[in-house]
Amino acid sequence: MSAPATHPVTAPVLTVEGLEKRFAVRGTFGRNAKTVHALSEVSLSVRKGQTVGIVGESGCGKSTVARVIMGLIRQDDGIIRLHGQPSDHLPASLKKRRRIVQMVFQDSSASLNPRLNIEASIMFAPMVNGTSRDEARTHAHHLLERTGLDPAQFAGRYPHELSGGQRQRVNIARALALRPELIIFDEAVSALDKSVEAQVLNLLLDLKKEFDLSYLFISHDLNVVHYISDDLVVMYLGQIVERGPADLIYAHPGHPYTRALLAAMPNPDPETRTETAPVFGDPPSPIDPPSGCRFHTRCPFAEAVCEASQPDQQRIGADHDVACHMADGTSGHSRAGSIEQ
Ligand code: SF4
Repeated sequence: MSAPATHPVTAPVLTVEGLEKRFAVRGTFGRNAKTVHALSEVSLSVRKGQTVGIVGESGCGKSTVARVIMGLIRQDDGIIRLHGQPSDHLPASLKKRRRIVQMVFQDSSASLNPRLNIEASIMFAPMVNGTSRDEARTHAHHLLERTGLDPAQFAGRYPHELSGGQRQRVNIARALALRPELIIFDEAVSALDKSVEAQVLNLLLDLKKEFDLSYLFISHDLNVVHYISDDLVVMYLGQIVERGPADLIYAHPGHPYTRALLAAMPNPDPETRTETAPVFGDPPSPIDPPSGCRFHTRCPFAEAVCEASQPDQQRIGADHDVACHMADGTSGHSRAGSIEQ
């Protein structure tokens, strides 16, 4: 699988700047309350027509980013902008945000009301937003058709009468119902069989063109993210450690964590297999994350400076940033300046 060609530069639909999110967790008997640092200084943007992929191990904060952007949870700090305008948590602002941004989750059945048939599920949001019943029904049938489900066959069915792939097509149709500009997919194809996954990914590429959409695509599967993304964001323990054009990062990963993730990817071609050891062990707890570079407890290149100070993002190529002391020629790391394109 290969990624789509890099998208031409367009204006951002979504920009997030300096997102911080902390969760309080209670200790035994309510004592020893601790803080989970779910997101730290997360900044990214999605341009019109672009697909940005977010990858990272489970617990790295990628789903929290999605939920904050959707307004399902509130950030502690940082700004969310839509078309350059700040979007807050006041009801009118959230309503506007959800017209522009929609989300498709992993669990296709939990997202659908079991008591509503497919047609009613898709019609629901447009009708709440003032669309007439007839117009909402016509639009729902059009969307079913566009997502590969014959309305004559599927409109009257209930979620339990559909396969996982069909339910996810309905969720995609629901996400399209309010004519959004950006859709967030949070592990949206992860529960599907490989053959169904490929069909749904190709459907997403077609819909993106047809409806002039932008995507934020979150997945733990690097092959899938590479296939669909123009740009890539790599997260580790609530922080962005690398970002840039997807093709470039897959060909020349800069951060040791990205290199380890890519080395752990199943690759059927022995010519291009890497000898780099995959990242070992589990990530540390986001409660009291490691000092300095959060990856230093697992990084084969860690030195004293890595534990002592947090690396800033360094530009190592066109739109390609890496947060590692080895990318900074002045960091004091013995390999300082060695990460470049
Ligand atoms: Fe490894 Fe140090 Fe770079 Fe962190 S800053 S990734 S520990 S070399």
